[in-house]
Amino acid sequence: MRPDYTRFDNVARELGCACLREEPMSRHTTFRIGGPADRFLTVTDEKQLIGLLQILREERLPWLLLGNGSNLLVSDQGIRGAVIALSGDFSRVELLPDGETVRAGAAAPLASVCAFAREHSLSGLEFAWGIPGSAGGAAYMNAGAYGGEMKDIVKRVTHLTEGGEVVTVSCGELDFSYRHSRYTGGSDVILSVEYRLVPGNREEISAKMEELMGRRKEKQPYDQPSAGSVFKRPQNGFAAALIEECGLKGRKIGGAQVSPKHAGFIVNTGGASCRDVLALIDMIKEKVAAEKGTQLECEVRVTGEAE
Ligand SMILES: Cc1cc2nc3c(=O)[nH]c(=O)nc-3n(C[C@H](O)[C@H](O)[C@H](O)COP(=O)(O)OP(=O)(O)OC[C@H]3O[C@@H](n4cnc5c(N)ncnc54)[C@H](O)[C@@H]3O)c2cc1C
Repeated sequence: MRPDYTRFDNVARELGCACLREEPMSRHTTFRIGGPADRFLTVTDEKQLIGLLQILREERLPWLLLGNGSNLLVSDQGIRGAVIALSGDFSRVELLPDGETVRAGAAAPLASVCAFAREHSLSGLEFAWGIPGSAGGAAYMNAGAYGGEMKDIVKRVTHLTEGGEVVTVSCGELDFSYRHSRYTGGSDVILSVEYRLVPGNREEISAKMEELMGRRKEKQPYDQPSAGSVFKRPQNGFAAALIEECGLKGRKIGGAQVSPKHAGFIVNTGGASCRDVLALIDMIKEKVAAEKGTQLECEVRVTGEAE
């Protein structure tokens, strides 16, 4: 049964939030998969966000904070409740007075943050060039690549608690580990992220970014819809290698396929459903467990109404 949104809709309107109904989540995930969200809200400032979280709490409505949707697999049944997308004030990127700290709003694309750092000849974010997430999503996931991780450069994160309190937390309290942070599975909303960078040479920074992007494009199915690496790196090697050794590269269920280019990715070849992807994930897990004795764990976050 759908929740009653009457009061929520009135408050969202009063707050001036853009609110869509039955919005297909396939429009908001890099997998291009996902059924309708009951409500899809675009929030441009802190006041709106605080007001929305309050009414969501009062009405006991479930909600999901969306970043760039690049690590999400949303069910075909969609999402009961509200999806909140940040924009406006939350997309700002700025240099702090010390000249070495960059602060990005949670909705700022990592690409913009990296380009801003390069523009100011600040080094440290090169590894993140090409990760298609937002600043908030990358901090939430402790995103990493090519030997770097958010935990190496994040200085402080400011978040909003569900109770409406704005809190700033320094790196040591962020509980970062492999694809995990203190925010994983919680309900705090990341508002902004500060990065501790070091002065560098703009040409060298640019060259490093281009080199890493080149490696990505060569090895990964960058031009097909996906959510990046489906599985976390297991203790004994790489998920992609184990999947390939099990003969699953290129295996298809419906529109979902183990990428023929990189077995760690599942790609949407066109019209893939969440059900297709989940069936492929189950098949991979079973085969890798049976043949290699390794239990693969999903890195991609599966969300929405159960299939
Ligand atoms: C082609 C491709 C390549 C990729 N390569 C890499 C890679 O090299 N390394 C890597 O680590 N990842 C990679 N990814 C995965 C993905 O880009 C990262 O996990 C990224 O950090 C997710 O950010 P996002 O903004 O898209 O978050 P989303 O996918 O929108 O959300 C992920 C989680 O973060 C939460 N979240 C997002 N924003 C906030 C916020 N402001 N406050 C609180 N919670 C929030 C969401 O609720 C959700 O639980 C890749 C993905 C693709 C499609």
